[in-house]
Amino acid sequence: TIYDKHKDTFERFGITKSGNKGVFDGEWKGSGPVIKSINPVNNEVIAEVISGNVNDLNTALDKVAEAQKLWRDLPVPKRGEVLLAMRQTLVENLEPLGKVVALEMGKILPEGIGEIQEYIDILEYALGLSRMMKGSMIPSERPGHVMLETWNPLGTVGVISAFNFPVAVYGWNSAIALVTGNGVLWKPSPTTPLVSIAVTRLIEKTLRDHNLPSALCSLVTGGTEVGSSLAADPRAHVLSFTGSTKVGREVGQVVQGRFGKSILELGGNNAIIVMEDCDLDLAARAILFAAVGTAGQRCTTTRRLIVHENIYDTLIERLIKAYGQVKVGDPLEEGVLCGPLHTKAAVSVYEETLKKVQEQGGKILFGGEALGGNFVKPTLTRVDKNMEVIKEEAFVPILHTMTFKTLDEAIAINNNVAQGLSSSIFTQNPETIFKWIGPAGSDCGIINVNIPTNGAEIGGAFGGEKATGGGRESGSDSWKQYCRRGTCTINYSGALPLAQGINFG
Ligand code: NAD
Repeated sequence: TIYDKHKDTFERFGITKSGNKGVFDGEWKGSGPVIKSINPVNNEVIAEVISGNVNDLNTALDKVAEAQKLWRDLPVPKRGEVLLAMRQTLVENLEPLGKVVALEMGKILPEGIGEIQEYIDILEYALGLSRMMKGSMIPSERPGHVMLETWNPLGTVGVISAFNFPVAVYGWNSAIALVTGNGVLWKPSPTTPLVSIAVTRLIEKTLRDHNLPSALCSLVTGGTEVGSSLAADPRAHVLSFTGSTKVGREVGQVVQGRFGKSILELGGNNAIIVMEDCDLDLAARAILFAAVGTAGQRCTTTRRLIVHENIYDTLIERLIKAYGQVKVGDPLEEGVLCGPLHTKAAVSVYEETLKKVQEQGGKILFGGEALGGNFVKPTLTRVDKNMEVIKEEAFVPILHTMTFKTLDEAIAINNNVAQGLSSSIFTQNPETIFKWIGPAGSDCGIINVNIPTNGAEIGGAFGGEKATGGGRESGSDSWKQYCRRGTCTINYSGALPLAQGINFG
């Protein structure tokens, strides 16, 4: 069995074939239904996990709150030291953890390892923040007064994550939530419970080594019931949700209904525009990675290719050649670039989408076949910019290609979808670049030039506009969303001058 074959890896993280406890709140437990972790390569059960239920969630939320009271009092650079130790643990487990990601999610091993690397990177970023997370002093209009802006933790950050980045999304959120003084409660995707257990075990050990309450980073595996209870619970002061637009819309409204803060990282429908003046080699390589990488299951995967009509045929010819060389297969095998889809259901999405393309008058230029099991052939289609099928995010490796004549038209096509996550243009012209990043340019949160739509670095704020939810995570000043901003006016004058010069009695 898969488990036996990779027994050493699983045992390293205390994962057994059955009876794994999927809840951690300072202790390992679980009173919810048994969930199965399935290997997408052959749909074999890897291991079973006793997930959590709403009672487990209730207890865990209280435990996190208790632990956070201690954590928030640590000087921020001291929190940084703990994050540094977490980083060290991840470095020591980089490969095996990446392998669990590959086995459970189905992405190729280098991408599984890359995901752990992203977690390591954000911990370094958070360590830096622990020395630089500063507030400000604002000039007061009143004599003998000082105005300060302070950034304090909100309490608990609930993290609901998607299947496709089963570690990095938690890493991004937890690193920043922790450095800003919050506790974290993680509800991972029900199809990736093993890697969430593995990560939580490493974090647990680090916290214990530092004599800190390990419930600070709690875990409740489970499905919709646990997720929706967490969204509705006022003890989750921030709810960071990563997943589909459909579920995110609901979660956003529930959190707003209780005046909680939400960070929504939802679906994308990302496009690359290829201008006539671009370096075509560079563009072709970038497009291949962006459209086929992670078998099209990144939120930033390129789904639409908008090509200047004069170079369309040349580019498509190159892409077809490149697509023909992509090896589809076992994600642990060297040389494989495209693993399986995460679930069988995704194969139907692939087939349905291609059916719609043809019904709406489009053509399949390359691929178009399900290859058995969860495997599909990465596919290129030829569509018209007005077709309905290209307005939806199908989470599979299908790239819809279309042509344009003018830059304005290309930008309009890029913006003519509900989602607004990532976008990119290939050009060598500075005028085009500045138009693209300006007010009449791309309406996405991520606006690239001469790089693919995917593969963001942790230093920038990550997220998108419109139906992508508007949230920002990771770098830049995203940390502020995990904080309560205080505007403090301190009067040391002994008198009581009022703002706006008001004289009151
Ligand atoms: P999904 O929406 O099906 O599930 C996401 C999470 O929400 C899971 O943990 C699930 O259990 C939970 N959930 C389901 N119903 C819920 C409810 N009613 N209340 C609260 N939680 C609930 O998404 P998925 O299939 O796991 O992931 C793929 C989607 O995620 C794609 O649309 C992709 O674009 C998006 N995504 C976005 C980003 C981003 O940063 N913008 C990153 C990764 C994935």
